Amino acid sequence: KRRIMVAPTKTLCPYCGVGCGLEVLPPALPGKPVTRDSLGNPMWQVRGDRNHPSSKGQVCVKGATIAESLEKDRLKVPMIRDSLDQPFREVTWDEALDRIALQIKKVVAAQGPDAICMYGSGQFQTEDYYIAQKLIKGCLGTNNFDANSRLCMSSAVAGYIQSFGSDGPPACYDDLEETDCAFLIGTNTAECHPIVFNRLQKHHKKNRNVKLIVVDPRATSTTKNADLHLAIKPGTDINLLNGIAHLLLRWNKFDSLFIDECTAGFATFAKVLKDYPPELVARDCGIRVDDLEKAARYWGESKKVLSLWSMGINQSSEGTAKVRTIINLHLMTGNLGKPGAGPFSLTGQPNAMGGREAGGLSHILPGYRVVKNPEHRQEVEQVWRLPEGSISPNPGLAAWDMIVGLEQRKVGVFWVAATNPAVSMPDIERTKSALRKSPFTVCQDAYYPTETAEFAHVLLPAAQWGEKTGIMTNSERVVTYCPKFRNLTWDARADWEIFAEVGRRLGYEAAFDFESSAEVYDEFVRLTQNRVCDMAGLSHERLRNQGPIQWPCPEWEMNPQQSGKRLYTDQRFPTADGRAKFSAFHAKGLAEPPDPEFPLVLTTGRLYGHWHTQSRTGRIPKIVKMHPEPFLEIHPRDAQKLEIEEGEWVELRSRRGQAKLPAQITKAISPGTVFMPMHWGALWADDAEVNALTHPAVCPISLEPELKACAVQIIPL
Ligand code: SF4
Repeated sequence: KRRIMVAPTKTLCPYCGVGCGLEVLPPALPGKPVTRDSLGNPMWQVRGDRNHPSSKGQVCVKGATIAESLEKDRLKVPMIRDSLDQPFREVTWDEALDRIALQIKKVVAAQGPDAICMYGSGQFQTEDYYIAQKLIKGCLGTNNFDANSRLCMSSAVAGYIQSFGSDGPPACYDDLEETDCAFLIGTNTAECHPIVFNRLQKHHKKNRNVKLIVVDPRATSTTKNADLHLAIKPGTDINLLNGIAHLLLRWNKFDSLFIDECTAGFATFAKVLKDYPPELVARDCGIRVDDLEKAARYWGESKKVLSLWSMGINQSSEGTAKVRTIINLHLMTGNLGKPGAGPFSLTGQPNAMGGREAGGLSHILPGYRVVKNPEHRQEVEQVWRLPEGSISPNPGLAAWDMIVGLEQRKVGVFWVAATNPAVSMPDIERTKSALRKSPFTVCQDAYYPTETAEFAHVLLPAAQWGEKTGIMTNSERVVTYCPKFRNLTWDARADWEIFAEVGRRLGYEAAFDFESSAEVYDEFVRLTQNRVCDMAGLSHERLRNQGPIQWPCPEWEMNPQQSGKRLYTDQRFPTADGRAKFSAFHAKGLAEPPDPEFPLVLTTGRLYGHWHTQSRTGRIPKIVKMHPEPFLEIHPRDAQKLEIEEGEWVELRSRRGQAKLPAQITKAISPGTVFMPMHWGALWADDAEVNALTHPAVCPISLEPELKACAVQIIPL
C-alpha cells in the first residue's frame, strides 16, 4: 500500500517566550479518524518540531494542547455599544472601523493626540507591533503605545540599555548546555519556561560538576534538584547579589583584565560592596552565611556562569537596579560574550522580543531606538516617509500611567488589543474603576467574553495563531515564520490589518499601502539595519524556506548557522566608549514591606499549565483539570499561628482589596511569606483575583509595577 504523506505546517507555539517550534497537521489525515476538541469540532493536531533550534521537538502541556483553544468562545463579529450599561449590537467591520476613526479624529481635535492610547501585547506578531507603532507614533504623533510587556520584562530592557548601551539578551539556549554554573534568580523556570529548564536539567544531570543555584522564596519544581536553594526574603535580591560580589572581591575572584579593558565604573561599584558583608547580608536575606559563601564560591570557581531570571526580578519597584546588579556580577567575573556564560532574561510572552525590536513600548522606536534621541526619530521618520518632527520627542504613557490617565479623564480613546488589563493590572479595583471612566474603549481580541470586554464600547474580532501570517522572536533571538494554516468561517482580521485600515480611514493611505504581512516585515527590517538587532538579512520568504534564524542576521548571504548566537563576543559594547557600565545600587527592599497590620508578604506567580489570564487555557479541559482553582500557600508555622487547617478557606486582605481561597499548608513557602497564583480573573473564580491585592508602585526607571509582592493579612473564614 502506498502511504499518503501530509506535510505539516511549521510554526511557533504562541504561549511563552521559550518559543518552541511546532508542527501542525490538519484534523483529517488520510486513513485516520478526524481528531475532535471537547466541543466535537474537528481539531488540528500539534506536535513538537524536531528541527526547531530552540526546542528540538520538545513541548510542554500548553503547546501540546493549543489546538483545543481555537474554536471555543471566539469573538466572531464586530460589536458596538454607546455606553457600558447597554448590550452590544453586531455591526459590520466598516461601521466599527468608521466609528473608531471618527472617535480618534474627534479626540485629537479636542484634546490633542496624547489623549489616544493603545495598549498592545507580546501576543502580537512583529507586523502587528510595527503597524501599531507607525499608526500611533508616526501618523498620530503620540508615543502612547505600550504593551503588556511593560508588566513583564521592561526592567530587563532598561537594565540592558543602561549596562550595555542597547537592549538585547546576550546569551542563547545552547549556553544552557555549555555552562558550568547556572544561577537562576526570580524564576520558576521548570513551570514557567519548561523547555528551557528541560535543556538545563539534562545538562545538569549529565555533568556532576555543573552547579545549579536557585534563588526563590519558594521551593518549586525548579529548586528540587538544585545544588543550592537560597530561599531569600522577598525583596532582598540586591542584598544577596551585592553580598556575592562582596565575597568575590574579598577572595580576589574577579577578572581584572576584563574589568580594565571592557568596563567602566568598577571603583564606585566596589565602594558600594563594602556595605554588604556576609553576616549582614545573610541576616537581611534570611539565609545562612555558609549558603551565601557557597553561592559566591560557585560563582568564583566556575569558568562559565549563566544567569537566568524572569518576573521575580523584573516585577519590582527596583527592577532595573536588580537587573543591573546581576549584570555587575557578570562584568566583574568576565562571564559574558562566550559560550555558557552571560546574563539572560527569559521573556514571558511569545513575541515580547519582537515587540522590543519593533519599538513596542512607549519610550522606544523600531530597531532598538529610543524616542528621546532626535537622530533615532529622524531615521524612523525617513523610512516612514513622514515630515520631520512627526514623532513626538516625549515618551508616551506606560501601562499603569494609562490607567491613571483614564482615572483623570485625560484619555479619550483607549484601544486594547490581545491583552486583558482588567485582570493583569495591579490594584484591580482601581483599574476597573478607571476603565469605567473611559469615554471610548476598543477591545480587539480573539475571545469573548473576557474581563476587559466588560469595559469596551467596541469589540473587534482578531485573528489569532494559525489564522494570520507573521513573525515572532523568542527569548534567544531566534526568529520564526508563523504562517496562517486555517481559514475561518467568520471574518476575524489580523491585528496589523485592523490598525492599517483605521490608518487609511484617518487619511494615511500611503503609509499603510501594504498588500501582505511580508511587505510589512520588509519595511520593518530596513529599520533594523546596522542596529544591534540587525535583521536586514531576513524576510518572510527566507524564513519560510530556511527555517528559524537567530539575529543579528544583517546579510542575505549569511549562513543561518553563523548568524549571531551570542552578542558582545568581541567584548565591545554599543556605548559611547565601547565599555559596559557597572552600576552601584544599594538595596531598597519592597515598596510595601510587611508591618503589624499586614504582617505577611504575598508573592505571586504562575502555574505550569495556565497562561496569564486564562483567555486560552481556561477553555482547555485538560489544563483546567490540572489547575482547577486558585489557592494560597502558607507555611505550617504561620498556619498554626492563625489556626488555619489544610484546605480551609481564608480571606486574604491587603490595603486595596481582598481575595478568598483555600489554604495549602506547605513548607515549600518560607515563614512570613504566602504565595498565590495570578491566573484567575473575575470570569474564572469569584473573589480570587490576585491583583485585587497588589499595588501599583513601579520601578522609577523601567516603570514596571511591583506585581510580585505586597503586604497582606489573613482572616480565617
Ligand atoms: Fe509553548 Fe512555552 Fe511550552 Fe514551549 S515552553 S511549548 S513555547 S508554552
